Amino acid sequence: MMNSQNEVVAAFKLVLLGDGGTGKTTFVKRHLTGEYQKRYLATMGVEVHPLLFSTSRGMFRFDVWDTAGQEKLGGLRDGYYVQGQCAIIMFDLASKITYKNVGNWYRDLLRVCGNIPIVLCGNKADIRYRKIKAKQVTFHRKNNLHYIEMSAKSNYNYERPFVYLLRQLVGDPQLELTVSPALKPPEVSFTEEMRLEAERNLLEASACPLPPNDDDNF
Ligand code: GDP
Ligand code: MG
Repeated sequence: MMNSQNEVVAAFKLVLLGDGGTGKTTFVKRHLTGEYQKRYLATMGVEVHPLLFSTSRGMFRFDVWDTAGQEKLGGLRDGYYVQGQCAIIMFDLASKITYKNVGNWYRDLLRVCGNIPIVLCGNKADIRYRKIKAKQVTFHRKNNLHYIEMSAKSNYNYERPFVYLLRQLVGDPQLELTVSPALKPPEVSFTEEMRLEAERNLLEASACPLPPNDDDNF
């Protein structure tokens, strides 16, 4: 049978993790198709957003799991993680505690899902007075994870976590999006100047020697 352009080649369960208030729901709702087609799993208290991405390897779907706020009460039940094929762990660049807690989310994820592709996302890069500088984010270097700074409200780097995960899942480091997904319009602006500064700071940080212990950073 012919594989039409619009047929989904594969679908992956993506587990969205991180403290309450870091911007997970804002992030997942920016993708308009997923927002219209989301399903609510009442027994779990979870919304599943099917996000479609057209790529050089065909059409892929992420079924992104988002909590209804249960993470604010502590950890999530195993059912949230079970059969997760990839994950995003989000923290808030304006909140140190959300970065400190990244290790807890990572531990819980590893316990249920083992070694799956993971992206660490520092969200709210648009905020002028951020509390966590690029140099203070070392968790990904110590644990061999991919790190992306983003701003859900401005769409800055919105697609990058998905492209990274698809490259890992498909095993093609050259995979690219062929169509930009339809997103909600930006609610705050992220200028070219801000982008250049953010990228420069990240590059500088990656050249710094690692401190012996994360807790010494704050
Ligand atoms: P969740 O609890 O992780 O799902 O977080 P929410 O998506 O509910 O967002 C928590 C708060 O952070 C809301 O007031 C959002 O408007 C705000 N927020 C989310 N993303 C961003 C962002 O990129 N920049 C800024 N400045 N605020 C954001
Ligand atoms: Mg939420």
